[in-house]
Amino acid sequence: MKVSVVIPVYNERENLPLLAQALQEALAECRYPWEAVLVDDGSTDGSVEVLERLAEADAEHIRVVFLRRNFGQTAAIAAGIDHATGDIVVLMDADLQNDPRDIPLLVAKLEEGYDVVSGWRKDRQDDFLTRVLPSRTANALISWVTGVHLHDYGCTLKAYRREVLEGFRLYGEMHRFIPAYAASVGARITEMPVRHHPRKFGRSKYGLMRTLKVILDLFTVKFLLSYFHKPIYLFGGVGLALVLPSTLLLVFLIIRRMVWGVALFTSPLFQLSLMFIILGFQSILMGLIAELLVRTYHEAQGKPTYTVRRVLNLKQERFSQARSRQ
Ligand code: UDP
Ligand code: MG
Repeated sequence: MKVSVVIPVYNERENLPLLAQALQEALAECRYPWEAVLVDDGSTDGSVEVLERLAEADAEHIRVVFLRRNFGQTAAIAAGIDHATGDIVVLMDADLQNDPRDIPLLVAKLEEGYDVVSGWRKDRQDDFLTRVLPSRTANALISWVTGVHLHDYGCTLKAYRREVLEGFRLYGEMHRFIPAYAASVGARITEMPVRHHPRKFGRSKYGLMRTLKVILDLFTVKFLLSYFHKPIYLFGGVGLALVLPSTLLLVFLIIRRMVWGVALFTSPLFQLSLMFIILGFQSILMGLIAELLVRTYHEAQGKPTYTVRRVLNLKQERFSQARSRQ
């Protein structure tokens, strides 16, 4: 077992030496071999030189990936995961707001048989109005929509078993939704309070805009989690909800025309029902196209529609062999 700590870095010059030292101290006691994968996300403040120095000083543990420009925290995390070699991946911020001393505790919790251990900044040291309140609202919303109840989706400090991170691409602000995704492939998830410190050096890179992005991402996540495999249930559901009542309305209008002689073609209700019937059929057709896309996705990439936890008296599932051959 090996632990990889993945850390996105964007203009954190003053924090980096302290971070490296804190990591070395905290993980010296860890029973497992470890590495820290620092991903420089196009820093412009001299973090690059600091990272080069740190990598030289501790070649055994410190690995660095330099991105060509600033791609954002989520992309930096994705790059880090791709380059990490550990069986356990711990994600963390570089600004020392997370405490590396929590890493061994997270790993120990993971060993109890969990696939994801989520950090929870119970005693969060950030501005209440601009950070804590929007974050609590977002957490409540995400928990409700995804059905995965965590107190702190926004906390980067979380530990994962490598398997649950595989086959998942990160976009936008999506790294906070990894637990929700992991739950959808059957991961066992728990959470644990972690320490949190105020930022000493540098500035936070985010403002309130992020909350808006997170809410938009939530739509995507909900769609992908609930309807990715059966998009026709969503599109077709909307389509039927439009077509069925409108058809009944149309029938009623025709009967009204025949029995009571009320004009049909000039009635606004007639136009409305026709419009909804057309929209409904459109939606169903879109659902069919989405179904085609899903089939292309699974069949072209050899992606199974299930995930296996373990097998007995069997070597390996077929798809993972196919993947390892690639
Ligand atoms: N970060 C990054 N790319 C960016 C913005 C941030 O790699 O475009 C890193 C940053 O260096 C830090 C982490 O992501 O390690 C979290 O950023 P920050 O502390 O600004 O966010 P907050 O803790 O205020 O939510
Ligand atoms: Mg921070």
